[in-house]
Amino acid sequence: MRVLILGGTSEANRLAAEVASAGFDAIYSYAGRTQVPANQPLPVRIGGFGGADGLADVIRQEQFTHVVDATHPFATEISRNALAACAKMNTPLVALERRPWEKTSGDHWIEVADIAAAVAVLPIEAARVFLGIGRQHIAPFAARPQHAYTLRFIDAAEGLLPLPDADLIVSRGPFTLAGELEMMRLRRIEWIVARNSGGEGARAKIDAARELRLPVVMIRRPQLPERLRVESAAEAMQWLGHRADLGA
Ligand code: NAP
Repeated sequence: MRVLILGGTSEANRLAAEVASAGFDAIYSYAGRTQVPANQPLPVRIGGFGGADGLADVIRQEQFTHVVDATHPFATEISRNALAACAKMNTPLVALERRPWEKTSGDHWIEVADIAAAVAVLPIEAARVFLGIGRQHIAPFAARPQHAYTLRFIDAAEGLLPLPDADLIVSRGPFTLAGELEMMRLRRIEWIVARNSGGEGARAKIDAARELRLPVVMIRRPQLPERLRVESAAEAMQWLGHRADLGA
């Protein structure tokens, strides 16, 4: 058995730890988006594969017998490529996908389909907005230049930010409720824009918004084709173990 973990999430990191302690032969793959990716207890490769066909070639050349797509729920391109490549190579694939957050009493969510819709629902009058959405998605908010934005990236920004009034925090999660409350109070945040990523590490901002009674523009998850899914590293291990028992 030889496992390819498509990573870049805390779930993938948890799985890597379990895979390493089980002594499985495995490689952890990063897209290479951050300057200093988290260390892994497995051999790591960094960078794209060159689409679905490139990934299929890597699966063949490196003789991977199993692929775990543990990428972020909004990373749809790599997930579609993994489906296509594994179908082409007849390689077993499982998606390790955390549950989306669910609205609870006290939440004031405005659910939208995508970033464009999130921009459109922000108020006309100037507001203080926290964009908890990752740097590659902030440019469309330039269409609402009246707002004062707070951004948070893992690395310092390269070049100019595309928003006229932006305050950048450089920090890597997971974040705590107390920390998020302090950040939002200090910056007098009035609106939050978030994607329904799910998971524990990012949910503190949603809990803080509830506590402060702030509206959250919540971007729904993109739809992916039907695929075998598990929700935890333990279940992914079971899936790998089951296959190993079968001698696959
Ligand atoms: P994406 O749009 O689905 O992928 C774009 C391209 O990046 C893919 O076609 C692939 O290039 C390459 N790629 C993505 N993940 C890869 C991986 N784990 N290993 C090797 N190549 C990978 O993905 P994205 O939204 O840009 O996210 C990039 C990475 O950051 C993902 O691994 C994801 O888990 C992580 N991440 C994303 C988010 C998010 O909000 N989207 C949040 C936290 C972490 P080729 O076509 O050349 O193979």
